[in-house]
Order: sequence, then structure tokens, then C-alpha cells
Amino acid sequence: MKKFNLESLVRPNVWAMSPYSSARDEFTDFDKEMIFLDANENPFENGVNRYPDPQQRKLKSLIAVQKKVTISQILLGNGSDEVLDLIFRAFCTPAKDNIISLPPTYGMYKVLCATNDIENREVLLSRDFQPDIAAILKEVNEQTKLIFFCSPNNPSGNLIDIEKIEKALRSFNGLVIIDEAYIDFANATSWVQRLSEFPNLIVTQTLSKAYGMAGIRLGLCFASQEIISILNKIKPPYNVNDLTQERAYNRVSDQIGINNEIISIIANREVLSKVLLEVNFVEEIIPSEANFLLARVDNATARYDQLIAKGIVVRNRSTQPLCENTLRFTVGTPEENKLLIHALKELS
Ligand SMILES: *Cc1c(COP(=O)(O)O)cnc(C)c1O
Repeated sequence: MKKFNLESLVRPNVWAMSPYSSARDEFTDFDKEMIFLDANENPFENGVNRYPDPQQRKLKSLIAVQKKVTISQILLGNGSDEVLDLIFRAFCTPAKDNIISLPPTYGMYKVLCATNDIENREVLLSRDFQPDIAAILKEVNEQTKLIFFCSPNNPSGNLIDIEKIEKALRSFNGLVIIDEAYIDFANATSWVQRLSEFPNLIVTQTLSKAYGMAGIRLGLCFASQEIISILNKIKPPYNVNDLTQERAYNRVSDQIGINNEIISIIANREVLSKVLLEVNFVEEIIPSEANFLLARVDNATARYDQLIAKGIVVRNRSTQPLCENTLRFTVGTPEENKLLIHALKELS
């Protein structure tokens, strides 16, 4: 196996560039009482008249302690969707490079391939939604820059086997991205804890799911300092706004509150899972480590419409490979779950 070489993976134009230096990057000694006439801001205070901290130092300091990483191993974005986009644009040369994704999975990888003119080499998961590493490695060529694992996987909800991801990390010289949008619901430790073992590992997380902050758009990226500094070169300087930084800081500080919600969601997922199995048109429930359940039903389109008629919107995932006749149920509040269960019983 060749040795991992980051420079060979970065787009040459990105490797060569220096980051845009904003006013807030050039002067950072905020402890002093200074008069800021450097960024063409409106000087009249209203709480948001100043540009936000481009490096989100306060928020990153808190996250670094919680995740047991250094600040230099963290990049924050406008949702993890922005983080994923930065990864594509830093490493994949349009009309030349390819990535590997593992359907059925999160739709953004495919969208980003199309946006960036990158070939998407799809290797289907198995019937039990696990990757076939031998088949994946067969698809790898000189132009393969990234492999995406989503664990827990959306829409199936299961964790990807640790040994399989390890095998990919050890056998593939490109970057392995593990999308952990749902990790806080899972009975598993995050791959963030293993960054020091794998120079080619990138882990993404988000405040949109377990942290209950989809509206503020905050995505997290953890990787080696070397990878993070490449992404920092191309990130828009003020990509995480002040209101987001502040709300995120307050929320991330409240681990007890977050954990209580997670415990409630997991308990309700288990209740919903049992009830769904008793519904006569439900054929199978995929065991879930996330905040949703994928159920195989007799006729997904018909059942979807029936639920809509009862005022409940679920997601029909039937067009995804291996997901024929499936509906995805997000776990709601206890009250919402009761209404869903009531509606399902009426239909069965
Ligand atoms: C919901 C979700 C995200 C979240 O993206 P944000 O842009 O942070 O809201 C990322 N990955 C997966 C697999 C998801 O399901």
C-alpha cells in the first residue's frame, strides 16, 4: 500500500492558494478596547453590526473540550451540507476526479457530485445495509478522492460495521468521510475519538438533529490539523453568522438538556418500533440507531397518502435502491407519536 499523501489529494489550485484574509483575521486582539475602523462596518451598535468571528473561537473552544480534540482539528460550517461542499471543492477536480458513495444513503453526496461535475461511483449497500468493502475497493482508481460512509445511515438508520470502515481507512489512500449526523442517538462511540489513528479520516456532525437546531445551520467537521487547514483556505470567511454562534454556544453548553431530549427520543423510537410491528400492513422495521425508523409496508404510496389525509407527513423512500415500499418515520414528541400510533391503528 502506498503511503498517505495529503498534497496528492488536494486540488493543485487549492494547494497553491493562500486563504482570503478578512479584517477580522488580521486583527484578533479583542481583549483590548480598540476602535474598529477596519472592516467598513456600520459603527452604530445594534448587536449584529460587526462581522462575526471567522474562526468561531469561543464556540470551538467549547466543542474542543467536549469532543476531546484540539481547536485546530475543527471546522464549522453553515450546516454540514456546507462542510461537505467544502470537502468536494478542496479535493475533487471537476470533470476529472470521482468519489464513492453507498446507496441508499444521504442525497447530498450525489447533489454535490452533480454540482461539482464529479463522477459518483455508487456501490450498493447489502440487503442488511452494510457496505461491501471488496466491491468498493474494486471501484477505486487513481482519480478516486473520497469515500462516504453515513453512520448511522440515512434512510436505513443502522450503524455501519466498525471493522468495515477500518478496512476502508487502512486500504484506501484517499479520504474517508464518516457522516455522523445521527451519532448522538446511537449506541456507539464517535469516530472523532480515533482521528489520531487515521490521517485520512474526516468526521462530520451537525446540530440539526440531536441538538435540535436545524434552523440555525451549524455543521461540524473533525479531521487532522492538516486537512482542516486546507478546508479553512477555501471556506467563506464569515460562513457562520453571529446569531448562530451564540445560539449554538448556549445549546452546546446545555448537555443535560440535550441528553434528556435524546433519551426521550430513543425511548419513543422503541415504542414506535413495537407498535409499527403490530400494524398489519407493516412488513419489516429496520433496526435503527437514529431518530427515525424505516418501515417496509405493503404499498408505500397508498399508505403515505392515507397518512397525509390524517394530517401526518412521513417520507416515502421507495425510489431509493433496496428501499422498495418503505416509509421513513421521524420520531416526534410523545404527543405526536401518540397521534401517529392512533392513525396507524385506524388504518390497520
Ligand atoms: C440531516 C443530515 C445532515 C444534516 O445536514 P445539515 O446541513 O447539518 O442540516 C447531514 N447528513 C445526513 C446523513 C443527514 O441525514
